[in-house]
Amino acid sequence: MAGRLGDFGNLPHIENMIRYALICDGLHEFEAWFRNSDDFDVQSEAGLVECPQCASAAVKKAIMAPAIAKGGSRPTADPQKMMLEMAGKIRNHIAENFDYVGDRFATEARAMHTGDKPEKPIYGETTAEESKALQDEGVPCSPLPDPLVPLQAKKLN
Ligand SMILES: [Zn+2]
Repeated sequence: MAGRLGDFGNLPHIENMIRYALICDGLHEFEAWFRNSDDFDVQSEAGLVECPQCASAAVKKAIMAPAIAKGGSRPTADPQKMMLEMAGKIRNHIAENFDYVGDRFATEARAMHTGDKPEKPIYGETTAEESKALQDEGVPCSPLPDPLVPLQAKKLN
């Protein structure tokens, strides 16, 4: 690794900088240089750290984990890849087993809760007000994280 600093020879005082692996709320990974950890905190709180891909200022330090070598010297288990694969499986499970009800979600969930309709797994859209009303009525529902939303739902939007 000695000599790598030559790659960045034009940057002043690079030896005092720390390169952080960052991730935005759209799961884009990128890297940026900061003087120290506080420097990152100050800049990100001021909204000065932006994702180069989507310009989101909701950026945090990526939590890193080492790749795990399985049955050989080649790293095969990239945690990020595993997570996305897992998300893909859950998403497929939802797509295959849940009925997409679109903006009838609140109506359908409520009908199942009151017993007017047989219970079955569904997913769909609802407003923030309806979502809160459902919670207040004791109808359990929670938002699906974006990577778990089946593609068919996105297409219908
Ligand atoms: Zn982004």
